[in-house]
Amino acid sequence: MKGAGSSYDELVALRSKTVFERAKLLAASGDRSRLDMTAAHVLSLLERFPVLYREAWSARSNAASPFARDGFDVSDGWYDIISRMSTKLAVDPSLHVDQLKEKWGRLTVYLAPPENAAAPAPTAMPGEELDRAIDEAEEESERTCLVCGEPGTSEKRGRWVTVLCGPCDQLFEISETSRSIAERLEGLDLAAFKANVFVQDAIRMELLCIGHAAACQTPASRARLPGIGWDRLEHFKDAAANKGIPVEELWRFASEEAPELGRKLR
Ligand SMILES: [Zn+2]
Repeated sequence: MKGAGSSYDELVALRSKTVFERAKLLAASGDRSRLDMTAAHVLSLLERFPVLYREAWSARSNAASPFARDGFDVSDGWYDIISRMSTKLAVDPSLHVDQLKEKWGRLTVYLAPPENAAAPAPTAMPGEELDRAIDEAEEESERTCLVCGEPGTSEKRGRWVTVLCGPCDQLFEISETSRSIAERLEGLDLAAFKANVFVQDAIRMELLCIGHAAACQTPASRARLPGIGWDRLEHFKDAAANKGIPVEELWRFASEEAPELGRKLR
């Protein structure tokens, strides 16, 4: 595990890099949240559309465009939508993306103001064609799971409106529940845990919830997250089996596996 100091130094170093440099570094490390676009996808878009996304090579500063700071501020599920939109926009070399993010469960794209509005280049895209290309992408995003790209629904989840498919929605359930399980152990050691039936029961209820969420996972969603013991998690939905888990095993799950599960699904 990395020390806090080195992670902080790495974070500071990353913040001073351009979007392109960060994607190169992250491609090598492979570490990311499920809500970030994978580095391979970022690099593919930048390599195919270097003019449209030219801000990816700009140094970050307060004065720079939001794209120079945040890059593709969405997850992988919208990669295909962005890729198709970019192919249409790249026909006009005077277009540059100034910001690309998720806002209220919808892809939102802002272009930089034209540098020479008085004399547009002969290759300039007609305004309505431009609007249509962006509108189509934004509308498609409203029904596309932002994590995996399967059909999804736009809903208020917690404080945010997001578009998720059923299995991805349940993954967030598992992640949240795992975190809540780990928090319940705060200040307890095994002896105190064994004596605290209230905490044990609360965790058994949460395991039930994780079991149901695991049962909602499709073969495709399981394949996207290898290294998770899906069958075992799914077993937790059986209340009788859940009740039969010995207290020591419950402790081990809550203290070791739950925090790890929360991290993998973040
Ligand atoms: Zn999904």
